[in-house]
Amino acid sequence: MTQAYEIIEHRHDVVIVGAGGAGLRAALGMASSGLSTACITKVFPTRSHTVAAQGGMAASLGNMGDGDDWRFHMYDTVKGSDWLGDQDAIEYMCREAVPAVLELEHYGVPFSRTDDGRIYQRPFGGQTIAYGKTMAQRTCAAADRTGHAILHTLYQQCLKHNTEFFVEYIALDLLMDDDGTCRGLLAWNMEDGTLHCFRAHRTVLATGGYGRVYFSCTAAHTCTGDGNAMALRAGLPLEDMEFTQFHPTGIYGSGCLITEGARGEGGYLTNSTGERFMERYAPSAKDLAGRDVVCRSMTIEINEGRGCGPLKDHILLHLEHLGAELLHERLPGISETARIFAGVDVTREPIPVLPTVHYNMGGVPTNLHGEVVTKRDGDPETAVPGLIAIGEAACVSVHGANRLGSNSLLDIIVFGRAAARRVTETVRPGEGHSSIAKDATDRAIARLDRIRWSKGGTGAGTIRLAMQRTMQRHCAVFRDGPLLAEGSKKLSEVIAMMRTDLAVTDHSMIFNSDLAETLELDNMLTQASVSLYSAIGRTESRGAHAREDFPKRDDENWLKHTLAWLADDDRVRLDYRPVHLQPFSNEVASIPPKERVY
Ligand SMILES: Cc1cc2nc3c(=O)[nH]c(=O)nc-3n(C[C@H](O)[C@H](O)[C@H](O)COP(=O)(O)OP(=O)(O)OC[C@H]3O[C@@H](n4cnc5c(N)ncnc54)[C@H](O)[C@@H]3O)c2cc1C
Repeated sequence: MTQAYEIIEHRHDVVIVGAGGAGLRAALGMASSGLSTACITKVFPTRSHTVAAQGGMAASLGNMGDGDDWRFHMYDTVKGSDWLGDQDAIEYMCREAVPAVLELEHYGVPFSRTDDGRIYQRPFGGQTIAYGKTMAQRTCAAADRTGHAILHTLYQQCLKHNTEFFVEYIALDLLMDDDGTCRGLLAWNMEDGTLHCFRAHRTVLATGGYGRVYFSCTAAHTCTGDGNAMALRAGLPLEDMEFTQFHPTGIYGSGCLITEGARGEGGYLTNSTGERFMERYAPSAKDLAGRDVVCRSMTIEINEGRGCGPLKDHILLHLEHLGAELLHERLPGISETARIFAGVDVTREPIPVLPTVHYNMGGVPTNLHGEVVTKRDGDPETAVPGLIAIGEAACVSVHGANRLGSNSLLDIIVFGRAAARRVTETVRPGEGHSSIAKDATDRAIARLDRIRWSKGGTGAGTIRLAMQRTMQRHCAVFRDGPLLAEGSKKLSEVIAMMRTDLAVTDHSMIFNSDLAETLELDNMLTQASVSLYSAIGRTESRGAHAREDFPKRDDENWLKHTLAWLADDDRVRLDYRPVHLQPFSNEVASIPPKERVY
């Protein structure tokens, strides 16, 4: 059964999908320069995942008297990326960090202060002065609510500058013309069930990460990578999708983060035999070894059958020996989180934990203006007219194989701002809109109908769980050829289930959360697929991509970015593009690859 839809048309200079930090910073820049700017978002702007960011945003202000400099920040970021980051984009980000943070301060972000009234900065992993000599204090913080402070300030500024918000609208697909130009998008208004065609000279994807592809992640339920999936359906590639960052202690099931501070205070991990297994993997640092080392050790325990619980699929984190007094004094937040999300009283019992997906390094490939690029006729920098991607959805690529903490809030602000500048330079307010291929909308509606009227026997929840468990087991912290191959086989079965046996029982269009979640699941499956195949393709270990069968980084063959396309029959095609080793200015030299040791 199908039903004809009435489509309401909107015309704007720019349409932005996403009201997280990236989307709002771009919207502010565009709206304030006179462009008619629509910002559509599936959740209320201040509920975007950016709101959950705690630690802060990196910028070499040097406010703590450490003599910090953007060149040191650039070096740390290139090294942190395991040399996969593009050095032109990294140079741009680290230089622009300083004015971008000061601008935020002037917009009203309530940063914490030093005694003499400057923005307070705290140390974070991988941040150094003088190319590794001493630790830096580079992360600008508003207490432990930096994302919250930034998001609320940007939302207020966007309202002041007349950005037009479309809240609880779900973007379904990009509207691509026959010549490959993006002319806008189709969206579904959850509140009244209507469909909306947004025509725009520039369409900006600021849809965030896709952490929910995994069973356990720290990201919000809305982080389903819808923009990435729309790009794939538009025939565009995604870049470096094999690189997913994990944190060792997310709460089993909910994925809420338990800070590393819990182990800092003396917490430790055990397997199903009660063994403190980290002593075997890291005899001196034990439970406080590097995040990647701990994550890998936990995964080996689970894969070798020593996981805890009936499904033998998690590890236990013990804090009970620390005593109620210490827990109350030093870890009150963790105690509360464990009570709410694991039903655990940490003074009496351990917390079930799992290495948890925390950030997606991969995404829609762009240049440093946020303009989307693809590889066509051998040219890996072919621009896709009309389309921009920023924030966690994009791969610009400043994080390469591994993101440094507090560089993502920076990325979303700097490239949101860069995209706004570019669009302001290249679009005249009020320009007329050309006509668009009719079947552009038809394709989007066909997909909506295919899913909406699915009559199989398996609900989205079952299929989603199968996908998440497959990814958690087969494409997680550490991989090898056979594990990945088995994963791809299992994932094809999950995709087949989605294609042939999906059941959607509620067909209504008004606040139909079942349909919304099924559309998100469809989006996630495509990203699961390209992530798995990109990981199969890369036969080396670099940053977050740790292959047991290829434990070394291989610069001779693999100093390149993966590009992955998805065909209509769900097959993945891989190709590669060179890493930009040259900075964009001649004020700094290229940082040549060397071994990454801390
Ligand atoms: C718990 C946690 C803590 C973190 N802490 C830090 C930190 O301290 N420092 C740091 O640098 N980084 C941190 N990060 C990472 C950082 O917060 C994120 O990478 C960043 O905020 C992403 O911003 P974004 O604007 O790209 O996307 P998001 O903030 O995720 O926003 C995505 C937007 O897209 C919209 N959207 C998505 N799909 C659709 C659709 N189909 N239709 C309409 N709208 C759609 C959503 O409604 C939302 O508005 C943390 C991440 C997590 C999960």
